[in-house]
Amino acid sequence: MQMLVLGAGQLARMMALVAAPLDIHIRAYDVNSKQVLHPVTGERYEQTLTQAIAASDRITAEFEHVPADVLALCEQSGKFFPGRKAIECGGDRAKEKALLDGAGVPSAPYVLVTERRHLEQAISDLGLPLVIKTCQAGYDGKGQWRLKDAEQADGIWQEMQAFLDKDPTHSIICEKMIPFDREVSVIGARDAKGNVKVYPVTENEHTNGVLTLSVAGIVSQAIQAQAIDAYHKLAEALDYVGVLAIEFFDVGGELLVNEIAPRVHNSGHWTQQGAYCCQFENHVRAVAGLPLGSTDLLRPSAMINVLGHDAIPHQVLATAGARSHWYGKKVKPGRKMGHINVSASTLAELGKRLNELSEHLSEQDYPGVEARAKQLMK
Ligand code: ATP
Ligand code: MG
Repeated sequence: MQMLVLGAGQLARMMALVAAPLDIHIRAYDVNSKQVLHPVTGERYEQTLTQAIAASDRITAEFEHVPADVLALCEQSGKFFPGRKAIECGGDRAKEKALLDGAGVPSAPYVLVTERRHLEQAISDLGLPLVIKTCQAGYDGKGQWRLKDAEQADGIWQEMQAFLDKDPTHSIICEKMIPFDREVSVIGARDAKGNVKVYPVTENEHTNGVLTLSVAGIVSQAIQAQAIDAYHKLAEALDYVGVLAIEFFDVGGELLVNEIAPRVHNSGHWTQQGAYCCQFENHVRAVAGLPLGSTDLLRPSAMINVLGHDAIPHQVLATAGARSHWYGKKVKPGRKMGHINVSASTLAELGKRLNELSEHLSEQDYPGVEARAKQLMK
């Protein structure tokens, strides 16, 4: 089977690496260069998008900011999963909020802003502080403002207005700043027959808006049950096929959705060794029309993102249960370059292994590893 992935980054690469043993061959379409590439080797194929669509049995996406004309072409082919609506919901916070509200899944209270008076309304209805996000443009915490006191409103509004003026199709959302205890996410897969399998909820740490550390196998059954309920509601509302990720704020044991991602997700990379069938394989399976693999936890696992570095001390690989996954990208400050997965048979042992890793990974570049290790070893 031939599968085309919209986007040619690390997610397409990791899909290709698990698709090959299934005899599924992946090509990636880079929406920026408009080239069809091999997602692992970077080799270019002499193919237009239209030709690549025609030559593929199935089409999927590794990210949600896909140009509308590309989405339309893929949708028309009848081969595209999870399909245009799901991708658009993930790429537009206004559509995403409408989906969440319609499905009865709680999320951060919000006001949509296209004029100054809406900002005033957000300040009076939601209170300060506010998290202000562009609806269509952001990722990794980019395209966001924080409004902490009313005096900042004029300055931030000028920046918001400049953004809105650049493109009349863009909008901005103001959200109440949620005083969360922690951030968690759930990843799951739904096949074309409506079967759903959900991985154990992951606890995630962000630093400057970017995911730095994920740990799986530590949340309570009550949290897992809420996440599964939200997962079913949203996957069904979208008639979803593929892997869908949902990020939540945990506020005193109650989950509020932060956002959804209609794709495999960074907080699910631990499934490469912590689950029977990883998120990349389950996504490929669902899109290809194959049965889903088990999402059960094989062993407690953690994932550490490698940001802005193209090497790690070799000693990292000497830690039992640790493996590195590189994305083959050119290094830039803060860029997601790869990740380290580590697993163990118990949480206490996972703590010990994270502690060993923290001896080789500086707190500045790999924040939170040592603290998490100490917590798990207790
Ligand atoms: P990514 O693509 O990495 O998921 P993003 O740019 O889509 O990021 P969000 O996930 O919406 O952005 O926000 C990034 C981070 O900012 C969140 O993980 C959370 O830590 C913080 N954040 C976002 N919205 C809120 C909110 N309403 N209240 C409190 N913190 C928030
Ligand atoms: Mg996010």
